[in-house]
Amino acid sequence: MKTKQSEMKTCPYAKKCGGCDYQGISYEEQLEKKQAYMKKLMKPFGKVNPIVGMDDPYHYRHKVQAAFDCTRRGQIVAGVYEKKSHDVVDIESCLIENEEADAIIRDIKGMLRSFRIKTYDEDTGYGLLRHVLVRKGYHSGQIMVVLVLASPILPSKNNFVKALRKVHPDISTVVININERRTSMVLGERNITVYGKGYIEDELCDCTFRISPTSFYQVNPEQTELLYQKAIEYAGLTGKETVIDAYCGTGTIGLIASRSADKVIGVELNRDAISDAIINAKRNDISNIRFYHEDAGKFMVDMAARGEKADVVIMDPPRSGSDEAFLSSVVKLAPGRVVYVSCGPDTLARDLKYLTKHGYHMEECTPYDMFPFTRHIETVIWMSKNCK
Ligand code: SAH
Repeated sequence: MKTKQSEMKTCPYAKKCGGCDYQGISYEEQLEKKQAYMKKLMKPFGKVNPIVGMDDPYHYRHKVQAAFDCTRRGQIVAGVYEKKSHDVVDIESCLIENEEADAIIRDIKGMLRSFRIKTYDEDTGYGLLRHVLVRKGYHSGQIMVVLVLASPILPSKNNFVKALRKVHPDISTVVININERRTSMVLGERNITVYGKGYIEDELCDCTFRISPTSFYQVNPEQTELLYQKAIEYAGLTGKETVIDAYCGTGTIGLIASRSADKVIGVELNRDAISDAIINAKRNDISNIRFYHEDAGKFMVDMAARGEKADVVIMDPPRSGSDEAFLSSVVKLAPGRVVYVSCGPDTLARDLKYLTKHGYHMEECTPYDMFPFTRHIETVIWMSKNCK
């Protein structure tokens, strides 16, 4: 039974904070809203299965990011940006974030003065600490702390890490990420490991994955496991198939699929994610998978031009969806099945429109509530080729 209105917790930051859309709305109602939205959007393509919600929709975010700033009165604040602004709402603990991650961020905030670490000022470009990112492995319990700095030098860095680990001995690694640019992007490109290995590992669907500071990894591990299981089920693998895992990130879905396929080809644009994917294949003793660092659209166009074939295409593009180069090549490669994992329902509907016009139809659609209290919806669908 999903959390009812009477059991809902109240968020003290809801009015100011720009993080959630559905605070104050019962979890049942949130799910109903999402279901109704998907039903309407998918109407031209077919039926929508009931959305898979969480039993406990709180503290699901295993990646927590806090912006640091200093108020005019000199008080250090850390948290999320206010709605439609770059003013930081000072958040002590958040209902959707992992509680240990929040405690680490709170304690870092408390340590800054004694270490004379200044927060970065977006307007003047003066100061050092911009953001803190904490990731916790759901099964492994490993914790990574990333300090995003405007320049590479952290004063007394060894003592700082020592003091932090004294309060949080469970921290597995501490990384400095350097972001010198005047940008609203959180992370820069350079990382310096100051404690531990510079990455953490976690398990999903019986595979072990390396998570680096900059590579994509889903924030809600509990729901991710269910979503990936469904994606593999929709792929309908028998052991004979050639599978493409497009927009593969660190190789998660492709590596899980590789156990039930003949071979898997992963393609991804982010260099760090591809390096992690190759390491993940070795780490899990998987040899029937190859990863390519390329634009997924270009890769598919080239594959189609060479006259190659694939039995199943699994695609998991960013919120902006896929593009015509990719989709038209899917049509040329003519896989029997396409499994589309989406975090943007509107772009999913757009891309589905293209594929249904060009010989495919939707067999099944299951939404997952990956981001309770926000308006975002994750979906996995399965498409088959029309019979001629
Ligand atoms: N399937 C992975 C990652 C999904 S997120 C997982 O479940 O963990 C979407 C991924 O698409 C990101 O890793 C992003 O770097 C990648 N991406 C974005 N644009 C791309 C493009 N044009 N070609 C290939 N990959 C792209």
